[in-house]
Amino acid sequence: MRHVVTFHYTLRDPQDRVIDTSAGGDPIRYLEGAGQIIDGLDARLKDVPVGTKTRVLVPAAQAYGERDPEQIQKVLRVLLPVEGELKIGDQFQAGEHPSDPVVTVVGVEGESVLLDANHPLAGIDLTFDVEVVASREATPEELNHGHAHGEHGACG
Ligand code: ZN
Repeated sequence: MRHVVTFHYTLRDPQDRVIDTSAGGDPIRYLEGAGQIIDGLDARLKDVPVGTKTRVLVPAAQAYGERDPEQIQKVLRVLLPVEGELKIGDQFQAGEHPSDPVVTVVGVEGESVLLDANHPLAGIDLTFDVEVVASREATPEELNHGHAHGEHGACG
């Protein structure tokens, strides 16, 4: 039996910096084992009782993967869809489609820019402080769609 789990989280990097949090906003809802959240968290949350706060450590390999040096490419500055000056550390989406990767500027060399297409969290071990706020059995429709539905069965 698979569940739909709703939880709040605060995500920290190994230096204890907060990267992201759902505190003050809506909790996250996901269908177990559907790839809606990172694998390492999905695998652990199913054992956490509702109302419980816990800390989950997810190694990079089970989060956003290890960094891949092949994902760093040199691109002519004029080909990039960004106006103005580019600096090391700048991030932007590589194309207009929502699934295009976010790239990070890691070097500027004359007319060219070195872009890193690794996920910004690749290679980073993640610490999640989570609180499971609800858990219920997935509906047949959710299992069919492969994702969790909203409060009143709303899809999407
Ligand atoms: Zn759906």
